[in-house]
Formats: sequence, C-alpha cells, structure tokens
Amino acid sequence: MSDFVTRFAPSPTGFLHLGHAYSALTAWQAAQEAGGRFLLRIEDIDTTRCKPEFEAAIYEDLSWLGLSWETPVRRQSEHFDDYRAELDRLIATGVIYRCFKTRKEVMDEIARAPHHPGEGPDGVIYPGPAEKMSPEEEANRIAAGEAFAWRLSMAAAIAALGDQPGLTFTEEGEGPNGETGTCAIQPDLIGDVILARKDIGTSYHLAVTLDDALQGVTHVIRGQDLFFATTIHRIIQALLGLPVPIYRHHGLISGEDGARFTKRDKSQTLRALRANGSRPEDIRLQSGFNW
Ligand code: GLU
Repeated sequence: MSDFVTRFAPSPTGFLHLGHAYSALTAWQAAQEAGGRFLLRIEDIDTTRCKPEFEAAIYEDLSWLGLSWETPVRRQSEHFDDYRAELDRLIATGVIYRCFKTRKEVMDEIARAPHHPGEGPDGVIYPGPAEKMSPEEEANRIAAGEAFAWRLSMAAAIAALGDQPGLTFTEEGEGPNGETGTCAIQPDLIGDVILARKDIGTSYHLAVTLDDALQGVTHVIRGQDLFFATTIHRIIQALLGLPVPIYRHHGLISGEDGARFTKRDKSQTLRALRANGSRPEDIRLQSGFNW
C-alpha cells in the first residue's frame, strides 16, 4: 500500500446529492489508483443542523454506491475537547481575538454566505475592527456573559508568520479560475475569519485542518467551492506547525440548467434518484465515472 491517504468529509445536514456522489467517487477512485487509503469523516460540529438520520443515510448511500472506507469513522462531534485544546494554542499566540457580535449580525453573515462565512471573493470579508477593544471593555463584556466569536486576525497571523513569507500550497486539481500548481495564499480575499465561537470551540476551518493532519491525509480532494478556504487552512497549518497536504480541487457538477446541486435540490438526492429507479452504475455514469 502506498502512503496516499485521502478522504470524503460530508456534513450530515441533509441527504447526499449527485454533487456529493461525484466528490466521494473522485476521492475513492484516486485512492484506488494510488493503491492508497480512503477515509470517510463525518463533519458534524454544527449540532443544531446535523441530524442522526442524515449521518445514517451517508453510510447507506455510499455503501449503495459501492464505496468502502476504513472504520471506525471519525466523527468530529466526539472531539470537541481536542479542537478546543488547539484553539487554546492559537489564543496563546495572540493571532485570534474575541469579536462580540449580536446573534442577528452573525445570522445575517451566515445567510449571506451559508457555506463558509467570510471567504472567497464573493464571501463576507470582515477586515477586522478599526481599533483593538480595550482589555477593560473586553473583560466587562465577558463578565456580562455576552456571546462572541474567535476571529483570526489576518494582519497578526501574517506578522506572526513573518519568517515564512509567501505561504503556498500545491494544487494538483484546479481552482475556480484555473489556479493550479504552486498557489500562493490569498489572505486579502478572506479577512478576519471566524475560527470558533464562545460555546463551540471550533469551526469547520479549524476542525478540517486539524483532522486532515491528525489522520495523515496526504491529498485533500474536494470541490472547488472550498478552494479559497485553503488559504485559511494553510495559515492554520503554518501557525500550528502541521503537515501540509497536496490539494486537488475538482469542478462542481451541475444540473441541466447549469445550476449547482445543493442540499435544497431534493430531486437530485441519491435517495430520490434511487427511489425513481436509478442504479449505482447510473449515478456513477451521471457523475462522469464509467466503471
Ligand atoms: N464538510 C465539508 C462540506 O460538507 C467538506 C470539507 C472538506 O472536504 O474539506 O462541505
């Protein structure tokens, strides 16, 4: 077996659709071709949106598609303490800060960028506060029990990494604008992104980066919608001294009208397609895999 390790990391917030099938098949096939390992990871840190029935459906749908993976499967919801410990390491470096926002402001931000707030050229880019909050005000707000998010200060992170200028990552696939090969990070497109919240000591960005390192993932294979998030993940790797995997972002498959599949397209869930008579080989063909 080679040292190639890749993964499919869905969030159980809905039923898998054709886009997920494409992503899972792409990663699975890459592992087969490389004689490597394929992992399945359940990214269920958002306990308000993740549901056990969706997780059960992930296992069933992927098995039905003909995929197999190593067990036990890592479920992020079982590792909040580990993420919190790494968050504490970041807090100690002084590159993240508490940002007090009302729930409404947070919700508006999430509504504008439902997948990963604050990233990508079209995302919400929060440049950070004009002035640092005074220690007194911060202490008062904490004492008052106000909610807050932990944000990464891009300026502080770049300064902290001063001896590693020009962080890059290797892209073996392609970003949305054809980015490939050695890609420079693009912090200006990100802003001060949220890495954790008062009550949830992690975020997608922190958990995915830590888990890929912990699980020895050598190749991150995922959709192009996460290409810009790689800047955040690369910075976290540099700050915490984590290994840097190779990235292979793949194109997103779309419906006949050209629109991307999302969890809202109920007709394109693997369950619905299966109920309408689709066989696993039909799904593979529809996803562009003819084996
Ligand atoms: N959990 C993420 C999602 O469902 C994917 C994470 C990744 O592949 O990096 O969109």
